[in-house]
Amino acid sequence: MYKIGITGGIGSGKTTVCKVFEVLGIPVFYADTVAKEIMVSDQLLVDGVIATFGEESYTPDGELNKKHLAGIVFNNEAELVKLNALVHPAVFRAFEEWVKQIDQKVSYILKEAALLFESDSYKMCDTSILVTAPHDLKLARVMHRDQVSADQVKARMDKQMSDEEKTRMADHFVLNDEKNSIIDQVLTLHKQFLIAAKAY
Ligand code: ATP
Repeated sequence: MYKIGITGGIGSGKTTVCKVFEVLGIPVFYADTVAKEIMVSDQLLVDGVIATFGEESYTPDGELNKKHLAGIVFNNEAELVKLNALVHPAVFRAFEEWVKQIDQKVSYILKEAALLFESDSYKMCDTSILVTAPHDLKLARVMHRDQVSADQVKARMDKQMSDEEKTRMADHFVLNDEKNSIIDQVLTLHKQFLIAAKAY
């Protein structure tokens, strides 16, 4: 199966672009959504989290204690690395399982991940797409969507790899600046991917 990783900074619109691919019948694996789900459903991961961050990582009824974990990893790079070392391989396993159940008639699939390049998960893909948007537009979108302040969004942006660095690593691009049509850009990429998938 031909696999395409898709990423972009916070508020770039990667999920929005994925929805356009879904309309074309392309299955999308949303790594960040799956990561949240498996934090409670993947026993190997749950055991690892408890062993590393303590029993308090989960409530007595098995819910993730986000406050406890956030308190440990927020602003502590070494602890965040430990958490990622548990979560990323679990997401990779979930992705492999997901790919196995995809109908072979499907031409290609997308993997949407905020940390596609940071987590090395692009290495499990055959090519990649970077969604970009002007800084102020990303800021305004996230402030509106999440009802948060500019400073809160900027703090989240500062933790991400820069667009310049991601641009060097990506193979394909979608500019989601609300001036250029994302539908037209996706259709152009879709045609290229159908050809690449056929030759795969
Ligand atoms: P995150 O990394 O925070 O999950 P994202 O890159 O997946 O963000 P989206 O959730 O797709 O971004 O988009 C952020 C917000 O901007 C959403 O509310 C979405 O509806 C809006 N948005 C994205 N693209 C456009 C567009 N072209 N026109 C209008 N609104 C848009």
